[in-house]
Amino acid sequence: MKLLRYGDEGQEKWGVLDAEGGIRTLDDALQHVTGDVLTEGWLAQLQKLDPAKLPLLKAAHRIGPPIPRPLNFVCVGLNYADHAAETGGKIPKEPILFLKSLSAFCGPYDDIIIPPGSRKTDWEVELAVVMSAKASHISEADALDYIAGYTIVNDVSEREYQIERSGRWTKGKSADHFGPVGPWLVTKDEVPDPQNLRLFCEVDGKMMQDGTTANMIFGVQMLVAYVSQFITLYPGDIIATGTPAGVGMGRKPEPIYLRPGQNLRLGVEGMGEQRAKTVGG
Ligand code: ZN
Repeated sequence: MKLLRYGDEGQEKWGVLDAEGGIRTLDDALQHVTGDVLTEGWLAQLQKLDPAKLPLLKAAHRIGPPIPRPLNFVCVGLNYADHAAETGGKIPKEPILFLKSLSAFCGPYDDIIIPPGSRKTDWEVELAVVMSAKASHISEADALDYIAGYTIVNDVSEREYQIERSGRWTKGKSADHFGPVGPWLVTKDEVPDPQNLRLFCEVDGKMMQDGTTANMIFGVQMLVAYVSQFITLYPGDIIATGTPAGVGMGRKPEPIYLRPGQNLRLGVEGMGEQRAKTVGG
């Protein structure tokens, strides 16, 4: 099942993708569904619906993030050896965690806003995990039971703020629209092996990142269990699992950063694609 949310920012409604790529609204159907959104039981009730029998959306709508604004937007740093190398970072002994500000959360086709005065806004395509249950101190073996599914995150980053402005990474990861999520939440039954997915990012048609989740240093199950040792995760929370090589700061001979008027296309195999234009803030 591919869940999504459509409508204006802050007023999104639930929909599901049908076999032809059309959007079926869950507006009426959800009145008969019990339990908190994105929990295992809630998802199980939606799985029983036949998308072909739900009302098809005729008009075009904005597609928002496929989940409501979460309680935790956790990111994992330097989780691909090739990316760690291009940034001059060491391969971490344990996962590097940081939190992205929840005000950065936005939809997969929303403009990427380059902050006023920014000179080093950069891209990072990532596979993201969405949680389906409260998880605290869980084991790696049990981690899959707590996952609703997967989606795409662009962990947009301002490298000067992140690295040159002192302190930790938060400053460079949290501007408005630095957290595009979606387009779909693909439930885990459709993703038998999250460690074997191609992921890519193009800028103005030029392939910048072209990697595979097979090259993660720490895999999805380990990361979910690991994060839960430090942060209690809730249904709908999101963990972005790191980016492969090819970000702007790692380009040779010179880094390349985003300017207003550019077009990004990024995807993870089986999860659709994000498309966004860059605008000046
Ligand atoms: Zn990242």
